[in-house]
Amino acid sequence: MNIVLFGPPGSGKGTQAQFIVEKYGIPQISTGDMLRAAVKAKTALGVMAKSVMDSGGLVSDEIVLGLVKERISQDDCVDGFILDGFPRTIPQASSLRILLDSLGKEIDFVISLEVPNADLISRLSGRRTCPSCGKGYHAVFDKPVKEGFCDSCGSTLVQRDDDSEATVKNRLKVYEEQTSSLKLYFKDLGILHNVSGCGSIAEIQSRICSIIEEGGTGDRS
Ligand code: AMP
Repeated sequence: MNIVLFGPPGSGKGTQAQFIVEKYGIPQISTGDMLRAAVKAKTALGVMAKSVMDSGGLVSDEIVLGLVKERISQDDCVDGFILDGFPRTIPQASSLRILLDSLGKEIDFVISLEVPNADLISRLSGRRTCPSCGKGYHAVFDKPVKEGFCDSCGSTLVQRDDDSEATVKNRLKVYEEQTSSLKLYFKDLGILHNVSGCGSIAEIQSRICSIIEEGGTGDRS
């Protein structure tokens, strides 16, 4: 089962991808996570990507495609995967289809998480992460027991560099200008499923499960 989790920054793709990983046993491929790991490790690719990411822009199609190509060919992706944050441009989407075709695979579902813009800004600017164990929190909606510290490991929580207000606004603009048109692309392929990304995490999970378990035969938007 090959899934693309689609939606603007802050729509909950990472959270829902984690749930799908646990429930269906397929790996998450997050280009954002892979790029952040490269930035942290200061690899040549990470050094190139950092300034673009900090400004909220998109890293080149060539770089992200290289990362995805390598990851998708690994053994744990044989029975499926969830792409989170990729593709983000039409050339990325068409290259993905060519790549999958060469591997005898295809995209089964594109699940698009729909969240109003005003909610996205407050979600993103309140987002906090534990740099040690990766657990996510929110300064308003999902507070840790002790403010500023991780419940699981006690480390000091941090804000992602690109979650500052100015960068968040640019990320949403970039999404509108370069990524949102992909919905039409996927709709034309008959694989797009719109899901409301509002409500509790459990409610959104249950909407996603209905789509996956109906095998994509339910309503397509
Ligand atoms: P994310 O964690 O998915 O929000 O990604 C964080 C940042 O990584 C984005 O704002 C982009 O700068 C970069 N990035 C992640 N995925 C892609 C992609 N598919 N194409 C281009 N840039 C990407």
